[in-house]
Amino acid sequence: MREIKHWINGQAVPGTGARRLPVWDPATGEQQAYLVAATAAETEGAVATALAAYPQWRAASLSRRAEVMFRFRDLVDANRKEIAALVSLEHGKTVADADGEVARGLENVEFATGAPHLLKGGYSEQASRGVDVYSIRQPLGVVAGITPFNFPAMVPMWMFAGALVCGNTFVLKPSEKNPSVALLLADLLRQAGLPDGVFNVLQGDREAVETLIAHPDVEALSFVGSTPVARLIYEAGTRNGKRVQALGGAKNHMVVLPDADLDTAADAAVSAGYGSAGERCMAVSVVVAVGASADPLVAAIKERIGRISVGPATDPAAEMGPLISREHRDKVAGYLADPGAARVVVDGRDAPIAAGPGFFLGASLVDQVPTDSPLYTDEIFGPVLSVVRVPSYADALRLVNENPYGNGCAIFTRDGGAARQFQYDVVCGMVGVNVPVPVPVAYYSFGGWKSSLFGDLHMYGPDGIQFYTRGKVVTSRWPDPTTSEVDLGFPKVR
Ligand code: NAD
Repeated sequence: MREIKHWINGQAVPGTGARRLPVWDPATGEQQAYLVAATAAETEGAVATALAAYPQWRAASLSRRAEVMFRFRDLVDANRKEIAALVSLEHGKTVADADGEVARGLENVEFATGAPHLLKGGYSEQASRGVDVYSIRQPLGVVAGITPFNFPAMVPMWMFAGALVCGNTFVLKPSEKNPSVALLLADLLRQAGLPDGVFNVLQGDREAVETLIAHPDVEALSFVGSTPVARLIYEAGTRNGKRVQALGGAKNHMVVLPDADLDTAADAAVSAGYGSAGERCMAVSVVVAVGASADPLVAAIKERIGRISVGPATDPAAEMGPLISREHRDKVAGYLADPGAARVVVDGRDAPIAAGPGFFLGASLVDQVPTDSPLYTDEIFGPVLSVVRVPSYADALRLVNENPYGNGCAIFTRDGGAARQFQYDVVCGMVGVNVPVPVPVAYYSFGGWKSSLFGDLHMYGPDGIQFYTRGKVVTSRWPDPTTSEVDLGFPKVR
């Protein structure tokens, strides 16, 4: 069986550890490959490689670093079909969905090509007589990225495009569930001219991550994954003196006001709730139906679910693929088996494909979900859309704001004033107005609030450049006999 290797110092290398982890084909339920989980010693080796490569990469000119990103951008574009196919093969999402993922990752690479402009500092001439003050931003050193299974191409690009162009070297620990895409991206970076050792990939799990968190030569950690792990990595990483941005889970609400165009709202709820089988951190998982919108909205969503084609990515007609693993599919199905006081309108376990060997579950709709039900309180991360009915806008807002997560949220309405008030009041990092999945474009930054993000800076975009650099301020005076004197007082500027 095929081993998915590590990528160290510009080449794929087999693992030396004792633990083999299976990589499944979610569409067939069969194992298709394996990886050998990185040991602590291999992780230390990867960090040492990245550290050795740092001085030379840092010294490369801004134009040279940007040039590598331009070339990488063209290589990703030229190979997007192959990358998307690999995403589909190991993740299970449809080819169109995988292609969208690659396109959104590519945006981050394009943004990174502008780093020479973004890294310009400030300059104050004559801050004091004969004294100039200027600020510069410098890279951190070795930085690490730990990424989730649900975007094996895009989320690594969120991180490494900005980190590398700022002059850092990188160790990526992708999800052990779909590890191949990282290797393909590593090879494209090599082809783009990135020097060996600047970008490294460690296949593995917790053992590698714990070594990275404790390693004194790792300056910063970027993490995307579930909230419990995000919290753990933030706490342990900052305790070890590292800069950390740790993005966690979500429970994204879509508020539908009675004046909304209900067909548009139903289309959006179905697209955002069941796209990628609900395994997106920006998926809509709760529809908050305000007042009279509830009955027609539930009926419209139900009608659309009947038309969703569920199948493997190899079927060009498929709109929704399988879940990532058998355990996860069974866990998601468990919410339907035990809905409590909620009413299951469409049960995805009844979809014929759910009885097959792949990890499939049909699109599911649950209405009248009480807010103390696990259907509401848990991040289900599957194709289960919950409807919570509330009498007023104020109730809807309270619900969103009291939720422990604050990743994305959306409001559907024709009332501009209501939408503006929502944007003003809502306690959430990314807001959509009649847009159900408001993932910011690459020249803004991505990040939730509350338990959806631990750290101070959001990911990619301007915040990403800040995260991967630190500021230095230089106060400079050139020898000038006419202004030179002995003065033991504290330096004054006026
Ligand atoms: P996960 O937390 O299980 O794993 C994420 C990464 O952490 C993987 O690389 C994994 O190997 C590693 N990991 C897991 N347990 C660990 C531990 N105890 N110690 C150290 N490392 C550990 O997440 P997942 O199942 O791969 O991804 C789905 C989750 O990611 C969902 O909660 C989703 O909302 C979240 N997510 C969030 C965003 C965001 O931007 N906020 C984006 C994508 C996914």
